[in-house]
Amino acid sequence: MTRISYLNGEFIDHDKAFVHIEDRGFQFADAVYEGIAFFNGKILDLGPHMVRLKRSLSELSIQFDVEGSNLEAAMEKLIARNDLSEGFIYLQISRGRAPRNYAFPNPPVKPTVVLTVSPLDMKAIQERQKNGVKIILVEENRWSRPDIKSTSLLGNILAKEAAWQADAYEAVYVDRDGFVTEGTSSNIWMITRDDILLTRKTDGAILAGVTRGSMMKAVSGVEQRRFTREELLAAKAAFLTGTTTFVMPVVQIDGEKIGDEKPGPLLEKLVKIYADYIKAETGFGG
Ligand code: PMP
Repeated sequence: MTRISYLNGEFIDHDKAFVHIEDRGFQFADAVYEGIAFFNGKILDLGPHMVRLKRSLSELSIQFDVEGSNLEAAMEKLIARNDLSEGFIYLQISRGRAPRNYAFPNPPVKPTVVLTVSPLDMKAIQERQKNGVKIILVEENRWSRPDIKSTSLLGNILAKEAAWQADAYEAVYVDRDGFVTEGTSSNIWMITRDDILLTRKTDGAILAGVTRGSMMKAVSGVEQRRFTREELLAAKAAFLTGTTTFVMPVVQIDGEKIGDEKPGPLLEKLVKIYADYIKAETGFGG
């Protein structure tokens, strides 16, 4: 079956989906994106993803009418056209095509809108959740607006590559003052020795993860505050959240064991809470 993608209102053969060389997304990473999961063909957390998309666009003054563009219908059509049941939608909106110049094109040009879908390997995700993952800690070296979901991801890419080279699943940033921020593509949480569930506030130093938000609603009593590298290393347990990460137990940080060898009952419960949430929202799962 031909893979189909969406480009500026058209559904086209994925191999023929091209954007111009003077697109500002290509030249400057002058673009925002969303990563959205679907199960049983149903989009999960569409509302929060669209709220965040609008905020990212607005922070960068990219003029695009999210409401009027009917992206939801386009996503649904794309899922159906690719005959996928569970998968991942990548949505990117760049400022558009214009002769290379740092300043915004004036008058504004039409933003470039891209949608792709790909399958989610649920088996691999569940296997990782069962065994837990290793992470490494790296110096926070990204630009100061990680709250905007922009495609300026070089820092994230380099850190993720370092993680993979170290046979770890994720790299988690620690800022200059020793406080943990987030993963390259996930938020991080910890459970203290006295069973307090902690995750960082959305204080501008992290992306407001949609999965983080859904877990916040599903679990009561979450404390939102910064925590240090030392607190994380002394934690009873830790986990990551993200659209393709789900709730992912962490069992090793920089080569040191955290918690048990395998995710214990506390983490298993949190993994199940999120699986139950997906089931309640989409009907997916056993
Ligand atoms: N932080 C960063 C830097 C990310 O790229 C992501 C993934 N989009 C997340 C956190 C998790 O966000 P979400 O739960 O919305 O996928």
